Amino acid sequence: MTRIVLATRNLHKIEELSRMAPAITWLPLPAELGDPPETGETFEANALQKAHYCYAGTRLPCLADDSGIEVDALGGRPGVWSKRYSPDATASSNNALLLRELAGVPEAERTARYRCVIAVVGLGPPRVFDGRCEGRIAFGPVGDGGFGYDPLFLPVASPGRTMAELSPLEKDAISHRGAALRLALAALVTGV
Ligand code: IMP
Repeated sequence: MTRIVLATRNLHKIEELSRMAPAITWLPLPAELGDPPETGETFEANALQKAHYCYAGTRLPCLADDSGIEVDALGGRPGVWSKRYSPDATASSNNALLLRELAGVPEAERTARYRCVIAVVGLGPPRVFDGRCEGRIAFGPVGDGGFGYDPLFLPVASPGRTMAELSPLEKDAISHRGAALRLALAALVTGV
């Protein structure tokens, strides 16, 4: 069975990735390694940085994801800064700031996408896989599933429901993380 270290301490990401790929034995990031750095300006750079850091510390195959939300009316912000968008950096303060920044922006101009880049280091040459989920930002939070911006994100693929209203399996089927992971698994299994 393939053993891969997941280079994250985000419990939601760990839960989603291990749920979507149960055939892989996912190993936690060793406590003594500390948090992987993410100082890049792109999802690709950050995902690779985290996976390389993890591989240097474990010498085992490592998978890292870097993800976030790009809002078109904000020129793509918060993007790679999605986790630390507002000063408090909690999900509710990030969502409140996003709603304030979009105050007065009509529905048609509230387009956005979730992005997730997965990097795999230590299984052949380093690789990156890009997953996206298109949608819009709602006018207020709805639903209590998922995490982060999910109560505000209306995926094109689930008309009328926010990501936080979807079941875990429904989210996996359309999410940016699901898309990136499916690409990664297909490439790793077939060796393409
Ligand atoms: P990272 O740990 O630097 O990749 O930050 C990811 C941040 O993007 C999270 O803390 C969330 O704010 C946001 N994000 C990424 N994926 C999701 C998702 O699936 N749902 C909601 N928010 C997400």
